Amino acid sequence: MGKLGKVEFVPFSKVDGIEERLKEGKISGTRCKKCNEIYLPPRMDCPVCLDEEMEFVDCENKGTLVTFTTIHAAPAGFEDDAPYTICLVDVEGGGRLIGWLDGSEEDIKIGMKVMVGIKDLPEDRMIYSVSVK
Ligand SMILES: [Zn+2]
Repeated sequence: MGKLGKVEFVPFSKVDGIEERLKEGKISGTRCKKCNEIYLPPRMDCPVCLDEEMEFVDCENKGTLVTFTTIHAAPAGFEDDAPYTICLVDVEGGGRLIGWLDGSEEDIKIGMKVMVGIKDLPEDRMIYSVSVK
C-alpha cells in the first residue's frame, strides 16, 4: 500500500484492513487478545507476549500533547509539504501517535488537550492530524 505518504514511514504495511478504517476516519489501534495491551499505531504482533492474536479497537480521538517540532528540512518524499509541524500525542485510553498539526504552532503548548483525526493530503495520501479543540 502507498496511502500513508509517498514513502512508507508508518509501520502499517502488516496491518490488514487499516487503510479502510483510516478512510472512515477512525483512529484504530490493535489489542492483544492475550495480554490486553493496546497498540496505536496498530501492530499485528504483540512484542510483550509475542502473540499474533490481535483485534482492532477504536481509540479515542483526543489526547494530550507530549511534544512537537516543526520540520523545515523534510525527508525524501515530503519536500513539498515542508514546513509542517509534527506532534506526539498520548491518546486517552491508550496509545501514542504522531500526527501533523492542523493549525498554528503558536496555538499549542506541551501538556494541552488536543484532538486527533485523519487528514487527506494531496496525491491520495492520508495522515494523522492534530488540532486544538
Ligand atoms: Zn500481548
